[in-house]
Amino acid sequence: MSELLFDPPPPVLAPVAGGGMFPVRRILCVGRNYAAHRREMGGDDREPPFFFTKPADALVTGPRAAYPTATAELHHEIELVIALKSGGVGITAEDALAHVFGYAAGVDLTRRDLQAAAKAKGQPWDAAKGFDASAPLGPIRPWRGAPPQGRIRLEVDGQTRQDASLADMIWSVPEIIAEASKLWRLDRGDLIFTGTPEGVGPLLPGQRVLGEIEGVGEVAFAAAPR
Ligand code: MN
Repeated sequence: MSELLFDPPPPVLAPVAGGGMFPVRRILCVGRNYAAHRREMGGDDREPPFFFTKPADALVTGPRAAYPTATAELHHEIELVIALKSGGVGITAEDALAHVFGYAAGVDLTRRDLQAAAKAKGQPWDAAKGFDASAPLGPIRPWRGAPPQGRIRLEVDGQTRQDASLADMIWSVPEIIAEASKLWRLDRGDLIFTGTPEGVGPLLPGQRVLGEIEGVGEVAFAAAPR
């Protein structure tokens, strides 16, 4: 057996509400899954949602998310996050919910200035979306049956910025899982950020973020300089 040249990185673990840790395999994200947010980003109403990714080690589960370098416009995006306990390819929407372990509240932090520059040049979004500490996540709540349909909201320093309903998602949870499994083999440990509603906006160093999804839980952190 070949010897490891150095210690492998530690596993990325997400706390489960009520106890236990969920080992994270990878993070998929849905873009433009709410019509009102698609409009505020200048999108075309006929354009369907799409996927991008973040590295698993972008996850933040504590109260501090390191404020990123190289941006003058960090934006918050509150999102329902799906946590999978199993997967496969070609999953149908009818079978999709059987693969769900639970749900969490997460924030898709975005370097909006770098994203705008990338869009203008037709370049990839990795530096705008997949940077270090770009994925704060609250505890995962185990869940069976119909997905959450309640209120999704986010406040910054006590002021409400985003306040919408999960019922307004363009792709539902089963549709997201089915669409993703056309493009990737999904597996246990995968997280899927399902897109943000309208009201995204800037986050300054040290400001306190509280995101809340009805029936699911909270995500709370401050993005402070290292
Ligand atoms: Mn997003």
